Amino acid sequence: MIPVMRPWFGPEEQEAVAEVIASGWVAQGPRVAEFERGFAEAVQAGHGVAVSSCTTALHLCLVLAGVGPGDEVIVPSLSFIATANVVRHAGAEPVFADIDPATGNLTAKTIEAVLTPRTKAVILVHQAGVPADVDEVRAAHPGLVLVEDAACAAGSTYKGRPVGAGAGLAAWSFHPRKLLTAGEGGMITLMDGEVAARARRLREHGMSVSAADRHAKGVTTPEQYLEVGFNYRMTDLQAAVGIVQLGRLAEMVARRRALAARYHRLLADIPGLRMVADPEHGTTNYQSFWVALPEDFPMGRDDLLAFLATHGVSARRGIMAAHLEPAYAGKVNAELPATEWLTANSLILPLFHTMTEAEQDQVARALHAAAAG
Ligand SMILES: *Cc1c(COP(=O)(O)O)cnc(C)c1O
Repeated sequence: MIPVMRPWFGPEEQEAVAEVIASGWVAQGPRVAEFERGFAEAVQAGHGVAVSSCTTALHLCLVLAGVGPGDEVIVPSLSFIATANVVRHAGAEPVFADIDPATGNLTAKTIEAVLTPRTKAVILVHQAGVPADVDEVRAAHPGLVLVEDAACAAGSTYKGRPVGAGAGLAAWSFHPRKLLTAGEGGMITLMDGEVAARARRLREHGMSVSAADRHAKGVTTPEQYLEVGFNYRMTDLQAAVGIVQLGRLAEMVARRRALAARYHRLLADIPGLRMVADPEHGTTNYQSFWVALPEDFPMGRDDLLAFLATHGVSARRGIMAAHLEPAYAGKVNAELPATEWLTANSLILPLFHTMTEAEQDQVARALHAAAAG
C-alpha cells in the first residue's frame, strides 16, 4: 500500500536523540534554544518560541494577543479542527468564514462577510502549504490581530520570502503529517522580543527563570510565578530531531515540488480535474497534494477513495470542514459554499520525500482507470 505520507529520517536523527539521552538532560534545554534560533532564522522571524504542538502554539498566540471571553475570532472552517478549537480554549468564539476555492484560504472578502463589532482577531491558515495573501488581509483589516496558522507551511514562500517572514504571530507544527517533524512539537515565531519573553514564561507555568537556566547557570534565588501559565514545553529529545530535520527542509521542499510537477503532468489529461498549485503571490511546499473532482466524474469521492485502496493507493478525503463536525453542530455564521464544495469533492494523494516515480505512476494509473469509469 502506498501511504499518503511518510516522514524522512536518517541515522542523523537517531544519533541526535542518543546524544541528548547521553547528556542526562532530556527536558526543555539547550537543544530547544538552538532549534528556536535556527527555525526563526530559516523563516526570517525575529524570535522562535518552541512549544508542544501547533495547537498549543495557536492557543498561546491568542493569549498573547489578549483574546478572551466576549471576543470573536474569524477562522476558516476548512482546516484541521485545532484551528477552531484553540479559540474556544481561549474562551472566545470562533466564527467560520468561507475560502477561495482556488487556494483553500481565507481572503479579505470572505473575512469581511463575517465581521462584527466583537471581532478581535483572525487566524489566517496557509492551508496545505499554499500561502495565504497576508498583505491583502492586513491592508483590508488593519484593526484585527492577525495570527498565521503556518502548521503546514514550513518551506512555502510568499512574495519571494519564506512564509512567516516578519509575521507578528505565526504558529508551526512538527507533527509527522507535516514536512518537518519532531514526533510532536510546535513553534511560535514573532518579531517582538518582549512578547517572545512572555511566551517563554507562559509555556513554562509563568516562571520568572526557566528550569533550564536554573540548571545551566546555577541560579539559586527562588523563581517567581508572574502569571498563570501552562506546561506547553518541547523536550530536547524533540528539538534534537527538529534541528536535523530543519537541515533537510530545502531538500524536502525541492523533492516534493518536483513530484508535484510530475503529478500535474501525469494527471493533466483527466477532464475537469483540479489540482492544488502555486498561487500568484507565492509557492507551496505541497504539504498536501489535493485534487478536486469535476461534477461529471464517474464516481463520487468516497467511492474513489475505496477504489484507490483496492489499487494499492492510500489516499485521504480532502481537508475537513469543522462546521460539519458534531463538535460545532449548529454553529452557522454565514453560508460556506466554497468550503462545503471543496471538502466534499477533494482528496489528498500520496506525496512523500522517498516516493518513487514507479509509485507515483501507480497512483496516476489508478486515477485514470477511475476516470475512464
Ligand atoms: C496539523 C495542523 C494543526 C495542528 O498541529 P498539531 O501540531 O498537531 O497541534 C493546526 N492547524 C493546521 C492547519 C494543521 O494542519
